[in-house]
Amino acid sequence: MGNNVHDAVIVGAGFGGMGAAIQLQRLGYDDLVILEREDDLGGTWHVNRYPGLAVDIPSATYSYSFEPNPHWSRLFAPGAELKAYAVHVAEKYDLRRHMRFHTVVTGARWDEETSTWHVAVEGGETVVGRFLLTATGFLSQPRLPDIDGIEDFAGTVMHTTRWDDDVDLEGKRIGVIGTGATAVQLVPELAAVADHLTVYQRTPICVSPKLDGPVPGLVRAAFARLPLTQKAARLVGTSLLEVMMVAGVLHFRDLPAANQLGKRVCEAHLRRQVKDPELRARLTPDYDFGCKRPTFSNTYYPTFTRPHVDLETATIDHVDTDGIVTVDGRRADLDILVLATGFSLWETNFPAIQVVGREGRDLGRWWRETRFQAYEGISVPGFPNFFCLNSPYSYSGLSYFTTIETQMAHLARLLTAMAQRGADVVEVTEEANAAFLDRMTGLLGNSVFNAGSCSTARSYYFNQHGEAVLLRPTSTLSAHREAVRFPLEDYTFAATGVPAGAS
Ligand code: NAP
Repeated sequence: MGNNVHDAVIVGAGFGGMGAAIQLQRLGYDDLVILEREDDLGGTWHVNRYPGLAVDIPSATYSYSFEPNPHWSRLFAPGAELKAYAVHVAEKYDLRRHMRFHTVVTGARWDEETSTWHVAVEGGETVVGRFLLTATGFLSQPRLPDIDGIEDFAGTVMHTTRWDDDVDLEGKRIGVIGTGATAVQLVPELAAVADHLTVYQRTPICVSPKLDGPVPGLVRAAFARLPLTQKAARLVGTSLLEVMMVAGVLHFRDLPAANQLGKRVCEAHLRRQVKDPELRARLTPDYDFGCKRPTFSNTYYPTFTRPHVDLETATIDHVDTDGIVTVDGRRADLDILVLATGFSLWETNFPAIQVVGREGRDLGRWWRETRFQAYEGISVPGFPNFFCLNSPYSYSGLSYFTTIETQMAHLARLLTAMAQRGADVVEVTEEANAAFLDRMTGLLGNSVFNAGSCSTARSYYFNQHGEAVLLRPTSTLSAHREAVRFPLEDYTFAATGVPAGAS
């Protein structure tokens, strides 16, 4: 396989990688290889299967617009339905034939002589392609907390991405470290079966009401027979999320009232669900709405009012064989310790693999030594024929599918232009990239991230330079408009004449 030059190598078989593959197929590229480290497709929705897992974006919106699913059982579908949807998409678009599982990519290098990407795989093999697309996700490298003594714990320790269904939770003393969106879904489920549950919170999260419920059979039938009805439902969901994001987060300086509204909705939800003022105070964030990813739940806050559930806000000192000891010397004896400690983004995930472009430019090092940047959240100067789908400024809107489809549109415009010009190598210019970075930096000044009070949020939106460059600070409409209209002169097009298969 080493000498065969594929049209494209895609790293990651989640929704991002599958969207890219669908688009490449539509554009006439059929020799694709999708390399995936896990044992099946679906990305996040394959890896995560903790109790309570569900999408926290309305399902009609959290799916490909060109592949609506009329069968979602609830407004916010359970995780297993997302995985089933991923399988359905792979089958319908005939993507499985491109996929190789249990294939860990260790790095990729641009080969100037042959104008190809050489992708190294654990075990020594090299896979070669004209294009390289990394779709490794934002939340795919689990973060294990650096807490003394965890390795000494005699009970079971599980990170939420490595859930072991064989572990019996019934009647156990369970500790959960972390109170992010994952814990918000998991904690009520654990409380339902545990003998005792202790939740270790370092930073509270904003939780707003979840307008969830089963989708009635009649509605599902209408979605199946009249796809326009589901399109309308999608539009409503997308618009609400968009208003929340644009008005509440990105236009913080111009529209402080919209941000306050978000905060008040969460506070009112908490007031309704938790009567004890002391407990309420401990669950109340002290940073502005949107600094940290908010979430939806009707069951999270009330869980802390149950007699067998403790919210522990003292800092963890260490773990020993029997449980957790906090800095004030108190201890909780545990049978099971759940690490809902999230993901490492800025340390290990930008990029998730080593990518070396022209003249030895190492993407990870370059980002860290300069600034995290990517033109339109997809292309980087010095990296020809490379599309980094999980790059700075790529995440547009609140549903990941908005991002994916914006990037699919960008690929369509660019690769069509390449074909028309007879080019085989394309690269974004340094100038276009710098202008995009300047524009995004300017827009961020208006957002809650720069203009609000986020210093206590410990938000993963911020990188080690203190910049919140994960989310694109524009509306999704504007992102999409740019994807279909960006100036083609922002790229250089070259015809190298190196024939395919010449590596
Ligand atoms: P997260 O939001 O990063 O939360 C991790 C939690 O662990 C935080 O509360 C963090 O505290 C805590 N933590 C980490 N290290 C710690 C330590 N050493 N000591 C004490 N506490 C520690 O991760 P997540 O909950 O897995 O969620 C990640 C993202 O996944 C979400 O924001 C969301 O985008 C996505 N998600 C989506 C869905 C969905 O339905 N679509 C569901 C779940 C998750 P600090 O805050 O103080 O750092």
